[in-house]
Amino acid sequence: ESFSELKLVPELLEACANLKYTKPTPIQAAAIPPALEGKDIIGLAQTGSGKTAAFAIPILNQLWHDQQPYYACVMAPTRELAQQIKETFDSLGSVMGVRTVCIVGGMNMIDQARDLMRKPHIIIATPGRLMDHLENTKGFSMRKLRYLVMDEADRLLDMEFGPVLDRILKIIPTQGRTTYLFSATMTSKIDKLQRASLTDPVKCAV
Ligand code: AMP
Repeated sequence: ESFSELKLVPELLEACANLKYTKPTPIQAAAIPPALEGKDIIGLAQTGSGKTAAFAIPILNQLWHDQQPYYACVMAPTRELAQQIKETFDSLGSVMGVRTVCIVGGMNMIDQARDLMRKPHIIIATPGRLMDHLENTKGFSMRKLRYLVMDEADRLLDMEFGPVLDRILKIIPTQGRTTYLFSATMTSKIDKLQRASLTDPVKCAV
């Protein structure tokens, strides 16, 4: 199978070719087709499996049809992972003019608020700092968010982000929101989170 068999916009096929992605990895082959149909996804996959592009590609494909600010938010457990995810979105989305921002702890709030006011399409964030901006940055809201991704959700929960995740999930309307949950392991806590936040998900395990 090749990327050209997936029904992606030409700009994304071009970006995949530029990155030398010739064929989808197993998690991409499993997750991208149902994601393009609009399904919620549970992806069980390790780092190194190509999981980032597995959720970035369907989001960018939809964004191409409907370029709106604050279109998608990806929550990650660490700054380093958030930065890597941003780089994947940038390298796949730059030909489409996609704007991304990384909102993580330990960085200047005012600089981040200014970046948010530039109306990026994709926000990659650690949960605590994201909550801080939702509460304190005027003009920033996720009421129109179309996609929410919880990446490395097992680590998000291990790092005690559970309560703030619950609060963020309550703020974002479920209506019109597609949700992806990626985790290396399936635990009872992940199962509980999944039941609370996803609608009729397709499970993709590799
Ligand atoms: P990840 O698991 O998302 O951290 O990705 C691991 C690495 O695989 C990254 O360096 C990606 O650039 C690379 N990668 C992702 N998808 C593909 C693909 N379809 N073909 C080749 N490399 C890929």
